Amino acid sequence: MALASSSTLVPRFLPMRLPKVCLALSGDTVEDMLASAESMARDNPLLEFRLDYVKQPLAALPKIHRFLETHQYVTAIGTCRRAENGGKFKGSLASQWEVLTKAHAAGCQIVDLEIQSALKSKREAIARLRSRAGLIVSFHDFRATRNLDETLEKMLKVPADFYKVVSTATTLSDNVTMMKFLQTQSDQHALIGLCMGEQGIISRVLSVRAGSVFTFGAVSADLKTAPGQISAGDLRSIYRIDQVDAATRVYGVAGDPIEHSLSPVIMNTALRRENVNGVYLPLHAKTLKDLIYCVREIPLHGLSITMPYKQSIVAHLDNTDAHTTKIGACNTVVRGQDGKLYGFNTDVAGVVRPLEQRISIDKAKVLVIGAGGAARAAVFGLKERGAEVWILNRTSVKAQKLARQAKARTIKRADLRKVAFDVIINATPVGMGNPRDCPLKDDEIQARVVFDMVYDPVETHLLQVARAKGIAVIPGVEMFVQQAARQFEIWTGKPAPAGDMLRAVTIALQERAAAQKPHKP
Ligand code: NAP
Repeated sequence: MALASSSTLVPRFLPMRLPKVCLALSGDTVEDMLASAESMARDNPLLEFRLDYVKQPLAALPKIHRFLETHQYVTAIGTCRRAENGGKFKGSLASQWEVLTKAHAAGCQIVDLEIQSALKSKREAIARLRSRAGLIVSFHDFRATRNLDETLEKMLKVPADFYKVVSTATTLSDNVTMMKFLQTQSDQHALIGLCMGEQGIISRVLSVRAGSVFTFGAVSADLKTAPGQISAGDLRSIYRIDQVDAATRVYGVAGDPIEHSLSPVIMNTALRRENVNGVYLPLHAKTLKDLIYCVREIPLHGLSITMPYKQSIVAHLDNTDAHTTKIGACNTVVRGQDGKLYGFNTDVAGVVRPLEQRISIDKAKVLVIGAGGAARAAVFGLKERGAEVWILNRTSVKAQKLARQAKARTIKRADLRKVAFDVIINATPVGMGNPRDCPLKDDEIQARVVFDMVYDPVETHLLQVARAKGIAVIPGVEMFVQQAARQFEIWTGKPAPAGDMLRAVTIALQERAAAQKPHKP
C-alpha cells in the first residue's frame, strides 16, 4: 500500500499549538495501541506512537494511517527508539530510518530521533526528513540528571524543531536542576524536558510551566513507557495540569516510602473544589536535606510530613505550634512569605474533631492503645480537652513515659474490664492490611465509641465487632480527612471541603481494595 503524507504542518508553528500533555501509546500490538488511541484521543489529541513496542512496526503503519485519516484533529509523533538507546527496536539504523520515514508518510506529523542515531545519520537525510516532518531530537539519561547544558549544546549540532532532554531523578533536587535548565534554555529553543523515576514527579507536573513544550502521560498506571510516568488521566484530573501556571502554589506530602499515600487524592480534591490555584504532589524524600532544598528552590508552600520524618523535621523548622512541641512530632509545614518554615501538628485535630461530633470530650474516659506518634497526638489532644486518658501499649515503659509527660494513666490488659470506657482508640497499626487482626479480643471491646486510626481497610475487625455490638464507630478515614482538612485550612485560610475529601478517599480505598482482590476466572 502506498502511504501518502497527510501532513500540512509548518514545524516552526508547532510549539504554540501543542497541548500540554502528550499521550504515550504503547502496547504489544498496534491493535492495543489504537484501542487506547481511539478511546483517549478526544481528551488527548497529541499522541506518541511508540512503534518500537510493536513486533513489526512497518506492518503497523497502514493501520495507524487509517486511524489518523479518520482523526484529523490528532497530532501524532512517531517514535521507534533503538534498544541500544533505551528503546525496544532491535533493527539497524537503516531500518529505524525506514520506519520513521514511513511513519511520517502514514500521517505522523512529528518524528522522534534519538541523538545517538541522529549523530550517525547523514545530514542530508535529516534535512530531507525535516523538510516534511517536525523533528524531535531526543536524549535520555537512564541513570542521573547531569550535564544538561552540555548535552543540549551537543544536540544543537543537529538542526531540529524540538530538543527533548529526559534524565533520571535520583533525588528530588534533580527536578530543580531540570527546571532551572528549562527556564534558562527554553527562551532560545523549543525544549521538552522532564525527569524519569518516582522522584521525577515534580518535573512531570511542573516542567511545562518551567518551559517544556509538553509533558508525557501514560495510557494507564500499568501502561507506562518510562519509569515514574503518570497516567494522562491523573495528570489532568488529579494534578490539573492544564491549569498549572506561574502563580500555582505547590504543596506536597513528603516521606519514604510515599508511593501508596492517599494524600494527593484528598488534597488535590480539596484544592480543586475550593478553586485554589495549587497542586499537591507525592514527594519521595530520601533525605530531609534534599526535601528542604526543594522547599526553598521550587518553592513548596506547604508540606504534609509523614513517616519517617515527623520527628526529625522539627530541627529544620524556624517555629512550631504548641502541639508539635508537646508531641515532639510535626505533620504540617508552612513556608511563610518571609521564607521561614513553620511546623504544626494536625493529627490532634484529626482525633478531636471526629470525636467531638459524637460525644462531649470533657471528662470522657478514653482508652488509647499504642504509645507512638499517633497515640501521643491523641493523648495530648484529649487531655487538653479535659478527658481522662488511660494508655495501653505493647511496650509498657513507653506507655509509662507518655503517661508521665501527658499526666495520663497507664492500664494493664488484664485490668481493662475494671474501667467503663466511653471511648476506645486504636493508635497501633494492628488491623492494617489485614481485616482479621485486632488489638483487642471481641469481649474486651466495650465502650460508647470505638475509634480505629487504621484506615486501610476502611472496615477493620475492631470496627466490625464494635458495630455489631451497637457501638458508635469512627473509622480511620475520618481522622485522615480531618488532619488533612486542618492542613488545608492552615495553608489556604479557607474552610476545607471535608465531605468531598472523605468521598474522594473512600472511593480511592475502594478502588485499591478492588485492585487487590484476586480475579475470579
Ligand atoms: P508508631 O509511632 O510506629 O507507633 C506504633 C505503636 O503501635 C507503638 O505504640 C507500638 O508499640 C504499637 N504496635 C506496633 N505494632 C504492634 C503490634 N503488632 N501489637 C501491638 N502494638 C503494636 O506509629 P504511629 O505513627 O503512631 O501510627 C500508628 C497507627 O496509626 C498506624 O497504623 C498509622 O497508619 C495510624 N495513623 C493513622 C492516621 C490517620 O489519619 N488515620 C494518622 C496517623 C497514624 P511498641 O511501643 O511496643 O512498639
